[in-house]
Amino acid sequence: MLPEALNQLVQLLSQLPGLGTHSAQRIALYLLEQDEGYLKQLAESIGAAKENVERCPRCGGFSAGGSCAFCADESRDSALLCVVADPLDIYPIEGTGGYNGYYFVLGGLVDPLKGRMLDSLRADELKARLEEGEVKEVLLALDFSFEGEATATVLVEELGVEGVRFTRLARGLPVGAEIDYADEDTLSQALKYRREVEPAGESTDE
Ligand SMILES: [Zn+2]
Repeated sequence: MLPEALNQLVQLLSQLPGLGTHSAQRIALYLLEQDEGYLKQLAESIGAAKENVERCPRCGGFSAGGSCAFCADESRDSALLCVVADPLDIYPIEGTGGYNGYYFVLGGLVDPLKGRMLDSLRADELKARLEEGEVKEVLLALDFSFEGEATATVLVEELGVEGVRFTRLARGLPVGAEIDYADEDTLSQALKYRREVEPAGESTDE
């Protein structure tokens, strides 16, 4: 039986994504061995991040309050909108240096098997953004997974707006690849050779 305080720490840690009880115990043990200064800083930085990091009202990415740095940057190409599943996907794309449009965070991916459809994501906000009329190309930078494919398909079918074309990253990325784990060179190529996507039934390739 673990001492109660340690047990509680393990319980809390095991709620983190990807951590089972065993990993949670190892992390708890590691934390107990660290000095007080580090632990204090860790606890404070969790609180500070929660308090100070907000979601940008325009793109849904991270901001320190109000519009994020990307949305506030007027030198970007407003005809280009890159749609990503979550805020962390923005940074590797930005890191390639090959993209100068704006971003839009969908807030997840469609998963028909779990009943998670477009209406649980920020699809209405995206549609409203397209209806503003500035965007000419929507670059879907979604994972190359079943959910990523399903999301791309429904977005193209349901958000078709006159004068807006949809593109996807080229298949330089392996099947199942997650954007936020892709290396910069591969992502850079995938961005450069992005391809057009058409609503189902109208596609002539593949
Ligand atoms: Zn923003």
